[in-house]
Amino acid sequence: MPAALKGIAVSKGICIGQAYVYYRELPEVLEYSISKYDANKEIKRFERARDEAQLQLKKIKTTIAKDTPHDITQFIDTHLLMLNDPVLYEDTVSHIHARLCNAEWALQAQVERIIKVFDEMDDPYLKTRKDDITHVADRIQRCLINGPENNSPDEKIGSNLKDRIIVADDLTPADTLLMQHQKIAGFITEYGGPLSHTAILARSLGIPAIVGVNNAKHILQANEWLVLDGSTGEIHIDPPKKDLTRFRSLIRDERQRRKNLFDLKNKSSQTLDGLKITLHGNIDRPEDVRTLRQFDHTGVGLYRTEILFIEHNEIPSEEAQFENYKRALRSLKGHPLTIRTMDLGADKELSDSLQHGPLIHNPALGLRAVRRCLKDPELFLNQLRAILRASGYGPVQMMIPMVTCVSEIDQVIELVDQAKLELKARRMRFDEHIKIGAMIEVPAAALAADCLASRLDFLSIGTNDLIQYTLAFDRIDDEVSYLYNPLHPAVLKLIQMTLNAGETGSVNISMCGEMASDTQYTRLLLGMGLKNFSVQANSLLDIKRIINNSHIEKLRFESEKILKLSHPDQIKQAVNELNQKFS
Ligand code: PEP
Ligand code: MG
Repeated sequence: MPAALKGIAVSKGICIGQAYVYYRELPEVLEYSISKYDANKEIKRFERARDEAQLQLKKIKTTIAKDTPHDITQFIDTHLLMLNDPVLYEDTVSHIHARLCNAEWALQAQVERIIKVFDEMDDPYLKTRKDDITHVADRIQRCLINGPENNSPDEKIGSNLKDRIIVADDLTPADTLLMQHQKIAGFITEYGGPLSHTAILARSLGIPAIVGVNNAKHILQANEWLVLDGSTGEIHIDPPKKDLTRFRSLIRDERQRRKNLFDLKNKSSQTLDGLKITLHGNIDRPEDVRTLRQFDHTGVGLYRTEILFIEHNEIPSEEAQFENYKRALRSLKGHPLTIRTMDLGADKELSDSLQHGPLIHNPALGLRAVRRCLKDPELFLNQLRAILRASGYGPVQMMIPMVTCVSEIDQVIELVDQAKLELKARRMRFDEHIKIGAMIEVPAAALAADCLASRLDFLSIGTNDLIQYTLAFDRIDDEVSYLYNPLHPAVLKLIQMTLNAGETGSVNISMCGEMASDTQYTRLLLGMGLKNFSVQANSLLDIKRIINNSHIEKLRFESEKILKLSHPDQIKQAVNELNQKFS
């Protein structure tokens, strides 16, 4: 077995922990033979797994809230009874003895027999009990796979993943959130790239993470001690004591460094030569404002509103959207909220049930974001009214994603005017002069930034998509995620063009893509003239530290030189040198 593995580092930080191999689906159970003398040992293993499953259920029962509906508590009791049912226990044990096979196989065989009996029943209620049997058996199987002291992350309550390093094929953003509640140490996945939404979420939650580790689930064993380095992408397996001591000291230093960063909380962001920089945060839900405020009391430069659609898997009403925005505004206590209109499609899609029409082969180039909104004006007007209504309750600006042409902006403005008229007729308050901006996410928009700037109040560079479309790689295709490179000269030229258009047109240019949150690019971006950053909550203070220690004139001089370079490797090296020189 290798002593180290490497993947794509997507979320910084070092952590040490035991592996928890997470199977969203249980792996195929294979049969293996055991000797006659090992039968009792195998039965003990089965009993330990069963006892652990029982412990987990009891723990869940004690931790659930008092007002939990009765049928949920009852379902836990049913599962506890089933765990001790002789049909499940004794027959599995007999099977191990008789066939001299592993516990997983014996348990599976027994469950299949029980399910067959249930299938033959006529009573529909009893038939549904077969799901309970499967759940109980799955719980024991997970304990067999991961060892007795582990637990299943798919439990919303009572799980014990604290300080574990999760090893999975892939994680959904929901899995990641759930695991974060259980205070996992970090995660490793076989799939995913730096721009996958799970990677973005890991960064915003501050969970060290590595993705794209081929075969991780097979190479890494449950309970094995691992060191995960989210900055280098290295995973050290069962490292020797002296390495562990070194990593522990690095973790301590990092903790201390982060603690010191809090001195900057709520301080202004301003360069040494007096240039004020706006530093806002990105959010996906109103609750995220709370996380933002843990780091800094500031505004929101990107609110990804489509998450509300995706999480509920339906189109929310105008009222629901309005309430949602108002909640975010309330938590912001007077700081501005930039609401991005829904960016549905491609990597942010509703479930199949809400999709119609032919199969789309190229969704990233298809009917997504503003294109979709303009195709369905009723859907769009619903959101425009909700945003306008929210603007009556605090400082709100509206931002349009995936714009390629001024004609789209003209259509949006027409619809905003229509929404205003409708609200006036309903006698609802809103900000008549609400600011409207566009995201620069495709090369066409960057090239036409001067035209867009002349019609809009602000522009915001969405580097995740801008890099995807400039370098012609699909941001959710793992095979090509290596092509993501914010330092590609073409990308830098498009960013510079957008910044210049803002300067000439006296329009604010912000950056809200992941590049803005990555400290290795901060000095270069400042030097190029970026004055507005919208970043992950977790990066706010790191970025502020760099801003407050920078001298803009010196950075401008260095950045001009870097922009003349043509090879991405040369640029990377020059940026590293810039960072070293001024750190
Ligand atoms: C971007 O494309 O950079 C961006 C901020 O939008 P999203 O990641 O939501 O597509
Ligand atoms: Mg985007």
